[in-house]
This record gives sequence, C-alpha cells and structure tokens, in this order.
Amino acid sequence: MTAPLFNTLCVIGPGLIGSSVLRRLRAQPGLVSRLVVADRDPAVLDRVRCLDLGDEITDDLAKAVSGADCIMLCVPVGAIAPVARAIMPHLKSGAILTDVGSTRRSVVDALLPALRDDIAYVPAHPMAGTEHSGPDAGLANLFEDRWCLLTPDANVPQDAIDRMSAFWRAMGARIRIMDIDHHDTICAMVSHLPHLIAFTICGTADTLAEDMRSEVLDFAASGFRDFTRIAASDPTMWRDIFLNNSDALLSVLDRFSQDAASMAKAIREGDEKTIVETISRGRRIRRSLLENRQA
Ligand code: NAP
Repeated sequence: MTAPLFNTLCVIGPGLIGSSVLRRLRAQPGLVSRLVVADRDPAVLDRVRCLDLGDEITDDLAKAVSGADCIMLCVPVGAIAPVARAIMPHLKSGAILTDVGSTRRSVVDALLPALRDDIAYVPAHPMAGTEHSGPDAGLANLFEDRWCLLTPDANVPQDAIDRMSAFWRAMGARIRIMDIDHHDTICAMVSHLPHLIAFTICGTADTLAEDMRSEVLDFAASGFRDFTRIAASDPTMWRDIFLNNSDALLSVLDRFSQDAASMAKAIREGDEKTIVETISRGRRIRRSLLENRQA
C-alpha cells in the first residue's frame, strides 16, 4: 500500500465542492489518513456528521487547521481571503494551503500579503459543478475527467505543486498549470459569461407580460430549459464570482455584445451566409467538446 498523500486534510466549507472531495476521499481510503471538516453553520456540520464525511467535525476553525498538512478552502470566492487570514496564525509550519475558488486575481491579491513564508499556497480550480449547493449536493465522481486548473505563484515549492497535482488526479481530474490572469480570462469566457447570459435570459422571461410568462413556462423548449438549469445556481457564489472577475467578464461581455449585434444585423438584412456560418461554428465547437470528453 502506498503512503497517504496527506496525514490530515482539513476541508473548510463542505458544500457542493467540499463535500464532493470528502465523498471521493471516503470512497478511496488511504489517500488521506484523517479528514477534518469545518464550517461556521451548525446545520451544515450536522449534515456532514449524518453523511459521515469527516473524522473530526467542528465550527472551531483554529482547532480544525492546527494539525492539518493540507487545508482546502471550499467557501465562496469572497470568503476565501478573510477565512485564510483568520486561520493563518494557526497553521502548522510546512502545511499546504489551497482553495477551489472560481476566480483568481482578486483572491490572490487579497490573500498573499497575509501568507506566511512557511506555508505553500497552491490555488486549484476544479472545472466541475452543478447548480446545487450544500453538503447533500456533493458527488464522489464530480471531478471525473474534468479539468482542474492550478495557479501557483512562481516561488511555490515544486513538491507542494506535485502533491496538489497528485491529489486532484486522484479525484479523477486532469491537471493544467496556468497563470492567474489567463485563468480568469478563460473562465470568464467558458463559465462566467454563460452564467450571466442564463441569469439575464431568465430575468427577461420573468419580466414578460403575465400571460406570456406563463406560456414560456408551459412550453419551455430545451433551449430555454437548459438556461434555467444554469440559472438555478447559488446567488452568493455567483455574486462573488461576477464581482471578483469583473474586468475579464466585462471584456468578454463586450465582445459577445458585438457578436450578438452582428447576428441581429444579419437577421435584419436577411444575410443567410452570416447566419449559417455562425450556427455552423457552434456545431463545430460542440463536436470538439464531445471529442474532448467535456460535454
Ligand atoms: P456551496 O455548496 O454553497 O458551499 C459553500 C460552503 O462554504 C458552505 O458550507 C457555506 O456554509 C460555507 N461558507 C460560506 N461562507 C463562509 C464563511 N465566510 N466562512 C466559512 N464557511 C463559509 O458552494 P460550492 O458550490 O461548493 O462552492 C465553493 C467554492 O467552489 C466557491 O469558491 C466556488 O467559486 C467554487 N467552485 C464552485 C463550482 C460550482 O459549480 N458550484 C465549481 C468550481 C468551483 P454556510 O454558508 O451555510 O455557512
């Protein structure tokens, strides 16, 4: 039997992502010897106890992190730096601090000034999720074949990067190491803009006249239904993502608005060639996603 990657892993915020990590670790004993779970909400901790997702379950963050070799922050993006600052004095020397946040630049800028020299910070963003949240929403196979983007600073010890890469590979993920600003631009395009459009489209449908709105719901075809699934995501999490990745998001939104205006112009002018080319491009992208096993 191989040695565990970490003797003690502490997960703070056992929601969808945190509890998915914990479920996977329960299904793969030996990867981590001891699981400590912390949250500020007693109801969340009760559910974690019922689901048997941790060996020690507590609302005392200082106690939770003090013996951990790896501390994983699975809280909303806006809470990552404040929670990191609160636990920093209690971390064991040589520990790895990581998070799963969906945006990077503002989190890293807020966290780095408080980072101790003897702690390796290896941010990791698993590109996997659902519209559900909380400890009951987690899935042991959530990360299977999904990308996990690691964005360590240049001075982080290679050993810490290797261990976090091995950890996420054991979760089933594929690893890519990336610069933080590049990460934020890519995620603005592939995740944050689609969510913005989904929330907006549902808002548009909801502001239609009463009779029309009820028909939208009655006859929701797959296109609109797919948007409503994305739009059911957690408001706190998405508020934090939009505000923390505003520059990259607004920049891709500008680009999208120009492209939508071009499509509107083509429709107005009966420009069949542009309409067909735009639709065909969409089909090509869908096909390459399927080939990449990301659909
Ligand atoms: P979630 O299901 O809502 O879980 C978040 C957990 O953090 C909850 O247990 C919440 O508990 C706790 N929490 C919130 N604020 C806290 C604070 N200030 N201090 C301590 N605990 C706090 O969210 P999630 O979907 O797992 O997302 C967690 C992180 O993963 C976020 O940073 C998100 O950007 C990232 N992420 C999400 C997805 C996705 O699709 N969902 C994908 C990749 C990455 P209470 O609020 O009940 O206290």
